[in-house]
Amino acid sequence: MKLPAFSEVLGQFVKKPVTNLFPARYLPKSITGYLGKVAAGEAEITPPPVPVPENFRGGKIAYDRDACIGCKLCIRVCPAHAIEFIPETKTVRIFVTQCIFCSQCNDACPVSCLHMSDEFMVADATATRNI
Ligand code: SF4
Ligand code: SF4
Repeated sequence: MKLPAFSEVLGQFVKKPVTNLFPARYLPKSITGYLGKVAAGEAEITPPPVPVPENFRGGKIAYDRDACIGCKLCIRVCPAHAIEFIPETKTVRIFVTQCIFCSQCNDACPVSCLHMSDEFMVADATATRNI
């Protein structure tokens, strides 16, 4: 009887892992405490082993406020209602925790002042983080 998976299972014992434990090498007692230490410069986040691919869709929207012309097109196309207009400055505010990374605002912006960054660690305990 052939066991094609057997050699694959054996091979896994000697292959180098393609993933690592992220964001910490070992599970910390408290993730919140660990992230607090990272913020205080007392600990470092273990980087993911795979680089962010080209045209990655899943990063925080980067916004060039100075280039914005206040046309509101991004607001019209945003399905998550994650963008609001600031009338005083004729600019926008993007609610990161509401964004679903669809990239429609990037495509719609006539002056290309929005683009998707490779910053994907955007989870936040508060729902108020914005750009
Ligand atoms: S990427 Fe999509 S969900 Fe996020 S702000 Fe832009 S349009 Fe809205
Ligand atoms: S589409 Fe671009 S230029 Fe228009 S309001 Fe949004 S960010 Fe500003």
